[in-house]
Amino acid sequence: MKNINFQGKKAIMRVDFNVPLDKQYNITDDTRMREAIPTIKHVLEAGGAVILMSHLGRPLDKLKEDGSINVEKFTLNHVTKHLAEMLGVTVKFCPETVGETATKMAAELNPGEVLVLENTRFQKQEEKGDLEFSSQLAKLGDIYVNDAFGTAHRAHASTTVMAQFFPKENRTFGFLMENEIKHADKVLNNPARPFTAITGGAKVSDKIVLLERFLDLVDNIIIGGGMAYTFMKAKGGKIGNSLVEDDKLDLALELLRKAEAKGVKIYLPADSIVADKFDAAANYQTTLSNEIPDGWMGLDIGEKAVNSFKNVIKDSKTIIWNGPMGVFEMPNFANGTKAIAVAVAEATKGGAFSLVGGGDSVAAVNQMGLADEVSFVSTGGGAMLEMLEGKELPGIKAILAD
Ligand code: AMP
Repeated sequence: MKNINFQGKKAIMRVDFNVPLDKQYNITDDTRMREAIPTIKHVLEAGGAVILMSHLGRPLDKLKEDGSINVEKFTLNHVTKHLAEMLGVTVKFCPETVGETATKMAAELNPGEVLVLENTRFQKQEEKGDLEFSSQLAKLGDIYVNDAFGTAHRAHASTTVMAQFFPKENRTFGFLMENEIKHADKVLNNPARPFTAITGGAKVSDKIVLLERFLDLVDNIIIGGGMAYTFMKAKGGKIGNSLVEDDKLDLALELLRKAEAKGVKIYLPADSIVADKFDAAANYQTTLSNEIPDGWMGLDIGEKAVNSFKNVIKDSKTIIWNGPMGVFEMPNFANGTKAIAVAVAEATKGGAFSLVGGGDSVAAVNQMGLADEVSFVSTGGGAMLEMLEGKELPGIKAILAD
């Protein structure tokens, strides 16, 4: 961004304005918009104009009964007014994504002005990464900016394919995306040690690739949440009615064996808060995680587990956290996740680098008001996970390609 001269130029910028809306189409959480503001402002202040592209929802999956797009519900015009207020400049809206009107409005855009194109996903060519559609989008601007990290793992027209129509010096990451890449890079290349990965959440099957990858990266893996019970059962423990993936027992043992061979320490929760049903108002008690009585299920990690996990976290110099330690949506089963969030914040204060990434752990850290006390909270969800898994993201590759 900083090396590009935007003076008199039109930046065509992919952002993630897929914001939640209420029934009256008011924006209920503008985080994603706020995050894109520095990149947009940079172009405007440098004397350029900005043409914005984004998707909003899944309009093609939710067509009206007559087969047409529900424009009223999915139009990106829902964001224009708020965006104008945030930027303090005129924001125009173009009722099509590409076409004659889009071409005309883009051509007439003056420096310092912003144009929002209609929802990219109104066109089926978007998700197909159609070359012709990508080229039409590319013709609207002089410089391509991608600041939508959350969709960087998708090879769609506006997130990836259109980049090839710009010479290398005229395509760039925006500040938000640059920041995400920089932080992921920091943990993936030359991390300070000990390096600890904290994983949790519901299922082992969702995290297999991640766990395998961690075996080659980290010194310690802490496993909490529902996925811990598959490991407990694999080791011969009694887990009552806890969440379990019986078809993953062998895999769990295999992961434990590989970890031992590679010298990676795996920490499972010694004890659990167990409940008599999956309910916020369930009765609960603490038991060892491998001696859970029939009819009871582990919904959070217990005090012994919290203490042992905290000790590992305290001594770590790099920490990645993905996935809650329990059913943190229910207050009686949120303590484990809270304690781990505090421990990560404390380790960060003591000089550790901490990255929290992936849906629910981000929600947990935000809920506890600790987002500013960890080094970096990734908004990238799936994109961040794929990056940590070592996959090459098409949206990143397209910007860096020769
Ligand atoms: P994930 O999307 O895989 O990170 O999983 C997050 C979900 O896992 C959250 O909604 C949690 O409530 C749920 N979860 C965490 N621990 C447990 C548990 N012990 N039993 C059932 N669900 C859990």
